[in-house]
Amino acid sequence: AIRVTDLHKSFGSVEVLKGVSLTANKGDVVAIIGGSGSGKSTMLRCINFLETPSSGQIVIGGEEIAMRADGTAANRRQIERIRTRLAMVFQQFNLWTHRTLLENIIEVPVHVLKTPRAEAVTRARELLARVGMAEKEDAFPAFLSGGQQQRAAIARALAVDPSAMLFDEPTSALDPELVGEVLTVIRDLAAEGRTMLLVTHEMKFAREVANHVVYLFKGRIEEQGPPAEVFENPKSERLKQFLSSVS
Ligand code: ATP
Ligand code: MG
Repeated sequence: AIRVTDLHKSFGSVEVLKGVSLTANKGDVVAIIGGSGSGKSTMLRCINFLETPSSGQIVIGGEEIAMRADGTAANRRQIERIRTRLAMVFQQFNLWTHRTLLENIIEVPVHVLKTPRAEAVTRARELLARVGMAEKEDAFPAFLSGGQQQRAAIARALAVDPSAMLFDEPTSALDPELVGEVLTVIRDLAAEGRTMLLVTHEMKFAREVANHVVYLFKGRIEEQGPPAEVFENPKSERLKQFLSSVS
């Protein structure tokens, strides 16, 4: 489970997150929606400690992340351990360009988690097959379509057997005809009960896979609830406006 309490984040004098709290229990798929600049990416990056929160509490799998008074992480090793349990998939396919797909996927298991290489390779092949990329293990990322790269990035994220996955607009850099193949992979992960936080602008998809939807407006949660409520019966005027602007 992921529990975020009263998370604040400022860049200089600009407060981007103004006290966000949310919980994702095991198996929850939480969709995070909101306009550009509302703080969606910053929130995910704080949860993964790619950004240091200014204040607030983050608990991952029952373990509270120790923070100093100035908000910096107190314990480097703890952060590294948490990162291997929280896999993040970004908008830009962040594969290592000078390595094959198979090498991309075994890198962290072999070098960070010290999984024996043969075991990591076997697992990597299973994961590539799962995302429909079994044929491509020796390919370099540049020779693949965006959709293929993103599916490989998801396979790589799964290689550490994460307790939760964070997705930041995983389809927004894709050509429209490639979006579906990536959503299919994410849909399958949701169906098998993976805990996920998913920033997306695909409202139809959010409604279908999420069991909780959070609408961020200027660094605050303006409204949240089950998808049927949030999408069909929004209460906030801002959310109503947002939904009509994106559909
Ligand atoms: P989008 O839908 O466009 O991806 P978002 O909701 O993900 O938007 P964020 O990327 O979290 O928004 O940005 C929220 C605000 O924080 C923006 O005003 C942005 O300019 C600012 N911001 C984000 N990262 C930094 C940074 N490293 N330094 C300064 N300001 C930043
Ligand atoms: Mg963003």
